[in-house]
Amino acid sequence: MKDAHGRTIDYVRISLTDRCNLRCIYCMPAEGVDQVAHSDILSFDEILKFVRVAAQMGVRRVRLTGGEPLVRKGVVDLVRDLHAIDGIDDISLTTNGILLAQFAPDLKAAGLRRVNISLDSLDPVQYKEITRGGDLDDVLAGIDAALEAGFNPVKVNAVAVRSLNQDYLAFARMSVDRPLHMRFIEYMPVGDSSGVCGHGWGEEDVISCEEIRERINHQAADEDLPQLVPVEGSSKPDGGGPARYWQFPEAQGTVGFISPLSRHFCGECNRLRLTSTGQLRPCLFSDDEFDARAVLREGTEADVHALIEQALGAKPEEHTQGDHANATETNMNVIGG
Ligand code: SAM
Ligand code: SF4
Repeated sequence: MKDAHGRTIDYVRISLTDRCNLRCIYCMPAEGVDQVAHSDILSFDEILKFVRVAAQMGVRRVRLTGGEPLVRKGVVDLVRDLHAIDGIDDISLTTNGILLAQFAPDLKAAGLRRVNISLDSLDPVQYKEITRGGDLDDVLAGIDAALEAGFNPVKVNAVAVRSLNQDYLAFARMSVDRPLHMRFIEYMPVGDSSGVCGHGWGEEDVISCEEIRERINHQAADEDLPQLVPVEGSSKPDGGGPARYWQFPEAQGTVGFISPLSRHFCGECNRLRLTSTGQLRPCLFSDDEFDARAVLREGTEADVHALIEQALGAKPEEHTQGDHANATETNMNVIGG
């Protein structure tokens, strides 16, 4: 299916819950979020109805996210049912990895193909601070389990925030001996949480992908390690997507960079987002929403089809994110990243 700007839309990101077992400082307030009533959250049957219609319209790929998708009961069954929908050939998951060691084999057997694991520090003390209580060992066990289960690719995503002073080379090194794809994501002005260290989202905390790459190369040179080289075409972990990939020579994995604010990927945007409360969002950086929940509860598949058409028609050509104001007041745990 095409949007009003001629882009092919074949990908839906679905937030399964706004709840999470962590409280990352840039994503959620310390006290957590107001509990959304269970009845306001889309049921699995409603999600399946949405995906069936979307698949008839040309959607091929579904990503499950959150909040933390693995805290939603029955997630393995949902993956199995999504996998059975005609036309859906790629189901993936974005997770903080805390529960992944427990779920990886069952998710793989149910038809999940790929996982992205979010990890912002390899230092256990800093990891605990950023996530307000998370245990780094759980995530590392999750990464091991994902590789063992045979997900391909396994990507690790780190949000880069200047004042956190993360060790970028330590991350990049993870891509050398194992087929892990390490990606750095620019910090985005999303949500109403207090931001890093309580001073709100600030442009001064955005560190560009170019700078991260330069820092990795500097640190590598200091340690007599080789420099990153660009990865071209089919050697990229998923043959495309918004990341730009680099690699240490002879490494099994890659190092990718995603700069959502640069707008370079609006032209290739291929997705819609469905929030946990069933709001269909044409663009991550806009609060425009279409109430899919009402239609999924009371309407026919033809009504769902019409709503998806409407959302497609409302996809902006590019986001108009200014440099200072928050693009959306909705926290990432609700939209799903
Ligand atoms: N809980 C899961 C996780 O952490 O992977 C899935 C949901 S989380 C909202 C999805 C992604 O959004 C995570 O990688 C997180 O780091 C990222 N994220 C949240 N707030 C962000 C922000 N302000 N800028 C950039 N990325 C952000
Ligand atoms: Fe939870 Fe993911 Fe947000 Fe961290 S980034 S608080 S793990 S939803």
